[in-house]
Amino acid sequence: MTSEIIDLTGLDGGLVGLTPAQLNDLKARIDGSLLRPGDAGWDEAVLVWNGMAAKTPALVVQPMSARDVAAAVGFARAHRLLLSIKGGGHNIGGTAIAERGLMLDMSRMREISVDPEARLAHVEPGCLLQDVDRATQAHGLATVLGFMSEVGVAGLTLGGGLGYLSRRFGWTVDNLEAVEIVTADGTIRTASRDKHADLFWAIRGAGANLGVVTRFTFRLHAVGPNVYGGLIAWPFARAQEILRAYRTITTEAPRELTAWLVMFRAPPAPFVPEAWHGQRICAMSVCYSGALDQVDAVLAPIRALGDPVVDLLAEQPYTELQSYLDASEPKGHHYYWKTEYAAELSDALLVTWQALAAACPIPEAEMGILHLGGAVGDHDDDDGAVGNRDARYALGAIGMWAPDEPGAAAFPQWIRGAWQRFRPFSTGGNYINFQTTDEDPARVQATYGANFVRLVAVKSKYDPDNLFRVNRNVSPATPAP
Ligand SMILES: Cc1cc2nc3c(=O)[nH]c(=O)nc-3n(C[C@H](O)[C@H](O)[C@H](O)COP(=O)(O)OP(=O)(O)OC[C@H]3O[C@@H](n4cnc5c(N)ncnc54)[C@H](O)[C@@H]3O)c2cc1C
Repeated sequence: MTSEIIDLTGLDGGLVGLTPAQLNDLKARIDGSLLRPGDAGWDEAVLVWNGMAAKTPALVVQPMSARDVAAAVGFARAHRLLLSIKGGGHNIGGTAIAERGLMLDMSRMREISVDPEARLAHVEPGCLLQDVDRATQAHGLATVLGFMSEVGVAGLTLGGGLGYLSRRFGWTVDNLEAVEIVTADGTIRTASRDKHADLFWAIRGAGANLGVVTRFTFRLHAVGPNVYGGLIAWPFARAQEILRAYRTITTEAPRELTAWLVMFRAPPAPFVPEAWHGQRICAMSVCYSGALDQVDAVLAPIRALGDPVVDLLAEQPYTELQSYLDASEPKGHHYYWKTEYAAELSDALLVTWQALAAACPIPEAEMGILHLGGAVGDHDDDDGAVGNRDARYALGAIGMWAPDEPGAAAFPQWIRGAWQRFRPFSTGGNYINFQTTDEDPARVQATYGANFVRLVAVKSKYDPDNLFRVNRNVSPATPAP
């Protein structure tokens, strides 16, 4: 492989030199691959979605099995190496990679098996959302997953998970039946409500802190295969009217209807009339997954707004709805987001929202409101570490730009300023999976709220040395309040 010592970042931040013999020892213990810079597959393995969060590990292990993962975890622990895990590589903060660290790239563990009778899917951690949606929809089934098909199932699930089906079936982790996980001591465990219940509780919202998950088991529901939805948009001049109608629609909607609101500049896409290219619009992305013979009545309040600039609402396969926005947030762009959960849309918030969208200097930015509530609130707040059961909306200032965009250096500051304006409307909670590159660690605590103290206790039990720290970290050393 190499005759030289390789320097990796250690757990204490200093460098750890690995000899060729030590690397050969690791290689001999795994069936998967061990990659160094320049090896075939290296560039793809270290690519993450947010170009602004790009980092370079020193070494990549591509495990093929839980046994491989256990060997790599044992190696990292024995040599006190900074260890990171890459699922789909879509974390906004780029937490799949630590600079000069040892990275586990799970992309070679991408199998799924669906048991339609038991309504369960067993999913390996390298799967993307599209893999699971396709496999489950072949049986007319689905679990709660997000709306961009290239996102990784692992990261999304381990932070809680939300999507168009959350109002019917809760957070993604409310649909998690069990996991197989390699914990810091190298043991391969199964965790569920009955086995290692404390571990399973913590995994449901803070999973990246507890180990490397090597298999997820999801509960499935009858969905589709056809649903009704897509994008509909109006001129920004009608923003206040649309926002207020949106509040009424989302308050009265059945759980089968989810409508997300987003204000942005229309792209020069073929489905947008040319006169509107680059103009601000106020749009809703809609998914109705109920009985299709009810769709006209359910969507009537949206249609009643009249005169849309774009109307792509149509019956379509669920898998299509789950991927139609993929191209809108391309890999390698620079992204900087700030988000908060909200329990209601007050008049003051709606006025602020319109003002922020009107003033935003970032050409490709989005001011978005995700529609939650429904089944998310059916569970107790301490049913899993995920919490935030009072979230009926997620508010987001979503900054994105090409790496060479003029004036980009000032864009994160604008997003932070916007966040200060809408933060007063927050429940106090925010979604851990939407946290950005330079988040204050106090925001991790805010995410978990009253569940945080219990989470620290579980982390201290299963990962007392904080081996799993390249994430939104819950440190075992956090003092009790
Ligand atoms: C364009 C876009 C759209 C999104 N849409 C949604 C959405 O609709 N709903 C939603 O809920 N979220 C959404 N998200 C947020 C998404 O859930 C997070 O970015 C998530 O972290 C992505 O997971 P990943 O596996 O792709 O990320 P990675 O960057 O690969 O990993 C994220 C974190 O998970 C840890 N991790 C990964 N695999 C494992 C494993 N096997 N075991 C233990 N830890 C692991 C990593 O260490 C890392 O800290 C979206 C993100 C983007 C960029």
